Amino acid sequence: MDRTVYLDNNATTRVAPEVRDAMLPFFCERYGNPSSMHAFGGSVAKCVADAREEVARFLNADPDEIVFTSCATESDNAAIRGAADYFGRDLRVVTTAVEHPAVLQPCRRLKALGHDVVELGVDGLGNLDLDALRRALDAARPAPTLVTAMYANNETGVVNPMDEISAICREYGAILHTDAVQVAGKIPVDVRKVPVDMLSMSGHKFHAPKGIGIFYVRHGTKLKPFMLGGHQERSRRAGTENVPYIVGLAKACELARLGWEEEGRRLARLRDRLEAGIRATCPDVRVNGDPSRRLPNTLNVSFEYIEGEAIAYRLSDLGICISTGSACASGSLDPSHVIRAMGVPFTAVHGSVRFSLSRYTTDGEVDYVLDKLPPVIRELREMSPFGPGKDVSTFS
Ligand code: PLP
Repeated sequence: MDRTVYLDNNATTRVAPEVRDAMLPFFCERYGNPSSMHAFGGSVAKCVADAREEVARFLNADPDEIVFTSCATESDNAAIRGAADYFGRDLRVVTTAVEHPAVLQPCRRLKALGHDVVELGVDGLGNLDLDALRRALDAARPAPTLVTAMYANNETGVVNPMDEISAICREYGAILHTDAVQVAGKIPVDVRKVPVDMLSMSGHKFHAPKGIGIFYVRHGTKLKPFMLGGHQERSRRAGTENVPYIVGLAKACELARLGWEEEGRRLARLRDRLEAGIRATCPDVRVNGDPSRRLPNTLNVSFEYIEGEAIAYRLSDLGICISTGSACASGSLDPSHVIRAMGVPFTAVHGSVRFSLSRYTTDGEVDYVLDKLPPVIRELREMSPFGPGKDVSTFS
């Protein structure tokens, strides 16, 4: 195989060369511990402070509201379990059925521990019912309540109306956390314009390396720290700072901050071209997720009557990387919980695959996929026992 076309950028992204270059001096030259008393460590502490300012600028936050973590899973856990630790059993939690497992699993853990936890459903387009959110918050009153609702869905790209969700949470006095992992670098996030109390992001989803996360915590948010130990991160996240990765993350934030508008338009154009090409060449497809509310880089398509895994494997043989469900769920053949929550018909649930583009995706790569995909779909459809005109009456 001589060509790799990587369209799995919601799973992870290539590290930007600018990010790598910014990180390199912090491995073998400037390797001091930012907590050390000597000037060698102190100069590194200054770089961490500068990085914190850049990350804060990216979110329009105050630098003191930024906590560096190891990944978004940690940030999500820190938000949910940290709130439960603060409020105890009284805390009620409202979340959505289409969250990433990094949110769903800690919420389900709290439920097992006796907390009242509500998972709100979505409609056929993946949109949340805001009246259901109001009803859940009404029912929770007067208990302290944490709402955790993702900014955009990792499988369909559907963007939640965070401004409305935030306004509702303010009205009911609920604490709002959002998993904003997939929006980083694609649409702007401004925690002053759209006030959330806590927010999670992950460096490796927008061209920083794996192993570094952002945890935004608004001043005054009631929370106990999840990681206990040293006094790093103003005692909100113990553990020696991952300096090279923090510096790299800040560079990725800067690149995203300066380029998102033009990049968003470019991605949407490529994604729309891919979608139109698939619709024109492959019958019986349905696009999952509200087309008017999607991230510009994400396309989730169900190819009816065939298995998404079979498509992904066949494309992998041709050098094309896509995914089915979320990367964390791959390895299991269970259909995606997100697509199921949207009520997608059985014949289409299993055939759902995700194409996710990035800054490095080119028109030539989209052309390559549009050339290779239709014959794969045709062949798999021929092999499938299901489909229009196929007689399944002999199956028992
Ligand atoms: N939240 C969402 C929406 C994601 O897409 C992912 C990764 O796929 C995560 C959380 C977990 O991020 P991390 O790999 O940084 O733990």
